[in-house]
Amino acid sequence: MPGGVDALTGVASGADWLARYDGALMGVFGTPQRVLVRGSGCTVEDADGNQYLDLLGGIAVNALGHAHPFVTSVIASQLATLGHISNFFTSPTQVALAEKLLELSGAPAGSRVFFSNSGAEALEAAVKLARRNSTPGRSRILALDGAFHGRTMGALALTSKKAYREPFEPLPGGVEHLPFGDLDALHAAMDGSVAALVVEPIQGEAGVRPLSPEYLRAARDLTREHGALLILDEVQTGVARTGRWFAHQWVDGVVPDAMTLAKGLGGGFPVGALITFGEDTSTLITAGQHGTTFGGNPVAAAAGLATLHTLESSGALQHVAGLGAYLREHLTAVQGVTAVRGSGLLIGFDLDGAYAPAAVQAALSAGFIINATGPGTIRLAPPLILTQEQAATFLDALPAILTTARTSATEATA
Ligand SMILES: *Cc1c(COP(=O)(O)O)cnc(C)c1O
Repeated sequence: MPGGVDALTGVASGADWLARYDGALMGVFGTPQRVLVRGSGCTVEDADGNQYLDLLGGIAVNALGHAHPFVTSVIASQLATLGHISNFFTSPTQVALAEKLLELSGAPAGSRVFFSNSGAEALEAAVKLARRNSTPGRSRILALDGAFHGRTMGALALTSKKAYREPFEPLPGGVEHLPFGDLDALHAAMDGSVAALVVEPIQGEAGVRPLSPEYLRAARDLTREHGALLILDEVQTGVARTGRWFAHQWVDGVVPDAMTLAKGLGGGFPVGALITFGEDTSTLITAGQHGTTFGGNPVAAAAGLATLHTLESSGALQHVAGLGAYLREHLTAVQGVTAVRGSGLLIGFDLDGAYAPAAVQAALSAGFIINATGPGTIRLAPPLILTQEQAATFLDALPAILTTARTSATEATA
C-alpha cells in the first residue's frame, strides 16, 4: 500500500497518540508505556524514534523477535493465497500444524489438537474437557494459588488473583485453589471427585515460580490414580521458551492428559491450542460440543508452522538453554538482585525492595523493555533469538538501572 499503514493512521508524536489513546481505548491496561511503530529482530522503535532492546517479547510471544523475514513471508503468502475458510473446511496448514504439535509433544497414538486464537480460549476448551470427565460425583477442578490462566470466565475461574476474580463473580463453580507446591495439600485434595488438576509448570504471571519436579510427578501419579485429568497450562512455558519444546519435558515421566498453548506458538500471530493426549481424553468432547470461527485458520496455522520450523531448524532449544543459564548466572551477581528463578528464557528475579515498577521505567529510559510481575519482581521473556551480546548489554546496564529505580522509588514515597 502506498505510504504503508501510515496512510491509514496518520503520523503523530508518542505524546499525541497517548492522549488520543486515553480518549478512545477502554482503560483496562492503564496508560501504555510507549507507542511502538516498528520492530526488527529483538529491537523495537517508538513513535519518537527511540529504540529499545525488547526483553519481554510481547510477554513471551515474539519467539522469533519482530518482523522475522521467514515468518512474515509465510504469513503474507498464505494470506494472499487463502486467508479464512471457517471450520466447515480445513486447510493443509491446519493439518500440518496439528501433526507437528503432536510430534513435538511426543503425544501417544490417538492424541488430538483443538486450535483457538488465544491462551484464554485454549483454557476455556480445557475447562470444557474437564467438565466432560464427569463420571457420577466427579465435578471438582483443582488449580493453584498464584495461578494465571486467562481472563475469560472459565479461565478466570482457574485464575487465583482476587483482584481479577472478585469484580466478576459469580464465576463458573467447582474450582478450588490449593497452596502452591504443597504436596500434602495435593494429597489431601485428591480423590474420585476431582475431574482435573490444572497447573502451570512454571507460574509466569506470579513472578516465574517453578513447580518442583517432585510436585509435577506427584501430580501425574495422583491424577492417574484417581481418574482425574492432569492439564498443564504451557501457554507461557511452551514452544521452546524453557529450552525444551514444552517445560514439562524437563521432568521424566510427566506426560499430561492435556496441554494448553498460545503465546509463542504463532511467533507473534494469535494462535492457541489445546492438545489432548491419547484416545480416551481426545474423545471426551464430541462433535458439536465445542467450536470456534477463527481458530485454526490457514494464516494462523501458517504462522505456527513457520515459527516451529524456524525454531527447529535453527537449533533454538540449545541456544535458549545456554543463554538462559548465562543470564541467570550473571543476574545473580548483580547488586540488589536477591533471587533468580526460571528456566531457559523465562526468567524472574527479585529485588531488595519494592521498586520493580520504577526499574521498568528506568530500563525504558535506558533503552530496555522489561516487566514487573509484582512490586519487587522483574520478569524477562525475550525473543528466543536474543544473542549473548544483546543480553550482555542489559547485564552491563542493569546496576545503573536499579540504582536509578531505587532512588526514584524512594523519592516517590518520601
Ligand atoms: C498469558 C497466559 C494465559 C492467557 O493467554 P491470553 O492469550 O492472554 O488469553 C493463560 N495461561 C498462561 C499460563 C498465560 O501465561
